[in-house]
Amino acid sequence: MEKKQFQAESKKLLDLMIHSIYTHKEIFLRELVSNASDAVDKLAYLALTDDKVGLSRSDFSIWIKADKDARTLTISDNGIGMTKDELENNLGVIARSGSLQFKQDLNPEEHPDVDIIGQFGVGFYSAFMVSDTVTVKSRAYGSDQAYCWESSGADGYTIAECDKEDVGTEIIMKLKEDTEDDRYSQFLDSYRLRNLIKKYSDYIRYPIRMEVEKTRRKEQPADAPEDAKPEWETYREEEVLNSMVPLWQRNKDQVTEEEKNDFYKEQFGDFEDPLLSFQVSVEGAVTYKALLYVPARTPYDFYTREYQKGLALYSSGVMIMEKCADLLPEHFRFVRGVVDSQDLSLNLSREMLQQTKELKVISNNLEKKIKSELLKLQVNDKKKYETFYRAFGLQLKYGVVADYGAHKEKLRDLLLFQTSQGEEMTTLSDYVVRMKDEQPFIYYAAGEAAEQIAKLPQAERIAARGYEILYLTDEIDEFTLQILGAQEGKSFKSINDDDALPETEEEKALAQKQTEENKDVLDFVKETLGDKIKEARISKKLVSHPVCMTTDGPLSLGMERYLNQAKGEGDPREIVAPRILELNPNSTAFTALRTAVTEDVEKAKKYTEILYNQALLIANLPIEDPARYADLVCSLMQ
Ligand code: ADP
Repeated sequence: MEKKQFQAESKKLLDLMIHSIYTHKEIFLRELVSNASDAVDKLAYLALTDDKVGLSRSDFSIWIKADKDARTLTISDNGIGMTKDELENNLGVIARSGSLQFKQDLNPEEHPDVDIIGQFGVGFYSAFMVSDTVTVKSRAYGSDQAYCWESSGADGYTIAECDKEDVGTEIIMKLKEDTEDDRYSQFLDSYRLRNLIKKYSDYIRYPIRMEVEKTRRKEQPADAPEDAKPEWETYREEEVLNSMVPLWQRNKDQVTEEEKNDFYKEQFGDFEDPLLSFQVSVEGAVTYKALLYVPARTPYDFYTREYQKGLALYSSGVMIMEKCADLLPEHFRFVRGVVDSQDLSLNLSREMLQQTKELKVISNNLEKKIKSELLKLQVNDKKKYETFYRAFGLQLKYGVVADYGAHKEKLRDLLLFQTSQGEEMTTLSDYVVRMKDEQPFIYYAAGEAAEQIAKLPQAERIAARGYEILYLTDEIDEFTLQILGAQEGKSFKSINDDDALPETEEEKALAQKQTEENKDVLDFVKETLGDKIKEARISKKLVSHPVCMTTDGPLSLGMERYLNQAKGEGDPREIVAPRILELNPNSTAFTALRTAVTEDVEKAKKYTEILYNQALLIANLPIEDPARYADLVCSLMQ
């Protein structure tokens, strides 16, 4: 029979599996049982609305069978099955190429404790960790023909018609021979299998059945003497191995942290424990239970279109939807978990379901619950909250800005900012508590990184008064503050604003005088730089530095950068905030410039250009001609 080739990515993952030296190869069982359960879920859902399926919930099952003589382990289900095309597409082409990419990107030196293969949900291919040959016989629901997929590893697979009486899938693994390090025959031992199912798959909501060998006392013949020795016999009996009670249906005190974490990793394919998990149990207008998680780090595709938000939705034990997006507001899209409610009508189509009142009630409740859990973490474990914030804070800020600030009040207390006060991040309300009595505004400054902002010339005079400055390092930060408007009556103020500090009459008069006295210098600078700037000004903000770059109007340099990045790729319009070059009249550089303007025009032009480029550099803006700038600076050394 002709061998078909695996798609390149699949082959790579398969190779990883076959040559895995991972010590917890047992997880293959968890993966295959989980696939079987998903397949049963799909048919169970169909059965609700389609009488033709002819099965009721109690008919669904997963079977495990070990054959010591043939050295095979078989896992079968009466789920939805796979058509020929599905066998080819689902097993020949890896569905989760994204996760493979992630596995390759993970630097093992940074994560020595993460066994990339073992901890990740690796799916079907994990069968190859323990098998020489894997055979999948499947008959799809609605089809009369069954197909058999078979592979002995990376050199390819075959597909052929085969006989299979019932709808569903059967996976037959020919186990590898035992080696010194690996005893694969352990997976033929019913006692071991039972323990593994208990450990990894206890909560699976369908019975996992296995025939196990048992011993019992032989019945004594009626005429046996009283002191006859009891005799024992062995017999085989089918047993259900799992308790079938999903974690979220149990009481909070009956679920250990470890169980919750294991469930999370298994269900959501994460290799790390979640940062936060919490159970919700509500009885009232709508009765439901939920088990929710916040991941410990940003999923690799979180800020891409690929990422799908949503919670798994169950109704009376049947999964209705794997990712119900309507259960989560956009700003909490990082939350993962499960919701189970008996109040949702099962006969509704998935589309209709999204409109139901019950779903709205649940999602509103969950939104409040998520917020209160996050606030609790913020108060009780600030370090951990900061970890959360580094992973998902950006999403919260998107939430503030979205829909013209419709959700801002819900999110305000969850925001954190870096500040001039030190390493620890601060909430806005904590900033207000620390404000000095006479301090008029909440100050902020934007830039690439805290270290760079701290050195901004404009920050000097604010810091000199002992006022704290929020360091805005995300491009969206300034918009976030603008949408928030104020905090407890205190408005936000950029340190770039001319009125950042209240001026005395004397200061005003002095600035006026300096501007008038230096009018010729300012005109010269503007004339030399032309369209590059809107205006040259005498600065009120500089203490020791000679120059800085600010903008005219509400658009700051940071916002300009954000807008240019946020606009569509095909959009050629470059957004440019009008630039103001501010000069410090008390600096020696300015004195030199003033002298040059009257005595040596060429020199004055050179100085002007240098100062302009310096202002760009300090503001972290690209300079237009770096080589020319370097030449100009060198020419000063002659
Ligand atoms: P994942 O389960 O994460 O999608 P897998 O590699 O484990 O990745 O499985 C690939 C696909 O093969 C599944 O999404 C499913 O469509 C199909 N599949 C696997 N096992 C079964 C099964 N027992 N019954 C029906 N379909 C299955």
